[in-house]
Amino acid sequence: MTIVIRSDQDFTTLLQSSLRARYEKRRRTEDEAVHVSDILPSSCLRKQYYGRKFPDYEMITDESIHHFIRGESSEFVITDLANMGVAQADLEFDGLIAHPDILDRDVIIELKDTQSTVRLDITDQRFRSYLRQLLYYLTITGIEKGIISIRYSNREMRWIKSDEKGDYFFRPFDGKGPRIESWSVLLPKDDIARELLKNEMIRRKNLFVKALNQNDVSILPRINRNLRNSKCMHCVFYDKCMNVDGETDLAAKMADEIDLLDIPGLVDFKPFLK
Ligand code: SF4
Repeated sequence: MTIVIRSDQDFTTLLQSSLRARYEKRRRTEDEAVHVSDILPSSCLRKQYYGRKFPDYEMITDESIHHFIRGESSEFVITDLANMGVAQADLEFDGLIAHPDILDRDVIIELKDTQSTVRLDITDQRFRSYLRQLLYYLTITGIEKGIISIRYSNREMRWIKSDEKGDYFFRPFDGKGPRIESWSVLLPKDDIARELLKNEMIRRKNLFVKALNQNDVSILPRINRNLRNSKCMHCVFYDKCMNVDGETDLAAKMADEIDLLDIPGLVDFKPFLK
């Protein structure tokens, strides 16, 4: 007798097609409403517009399914472990849909899962995007306290260089391993930032809805210039956005506006204690 072991692509394919169907269904359901994630400055209003109008441009890849499952499963487990409040509550604010990961009476928690090899803080655009999303939820609900909990699934690494073969990193002995880092965020009830965030949310939502209704992407700003290097390079709508469709003067000005989080004195950030 011999123990026979072979690779089994059939089972992987079966799993992939089921996951793909679920991912596509989730995307279609979400297409009908405007979500907080659609209007975040880091999401790019134009990209969200194109995603709705030309869904076939965006291929659903194995990688995108993988990210979806990783995010969903991590969120599910941590929500269960935290054993607090309501998970994925349905909130609606002036036609905008919000689903905070955990909504308790006095606190909102956002759970993030990342493969980043660097630890994120206020200087990183991804962290700012997590923070913005939480601040929008705090503004919508009137709650003062929030938590961002980031699960890092990779060890910390340092980038050395890139060449035509790829990227080179090294793993420092004192680098942090996979772990969770959580941040508390306080947005006082009477803080002027609430009004600024509310105006920003409504303005972006109204503009997005108007562009969709009028089939006019030119009124939507391209993503802020500081983010173009990282975001536009891999965008499937790049040619359409940059070379085919125009941008009104108002939209171009909006793309260059200073980020609220960069207004001096608006944010008081202290780095993570090791
Ligand atoms: S190319 Fe850049 S600005 Fe245009 S849709 Fe894509 S991310 Fe947005």
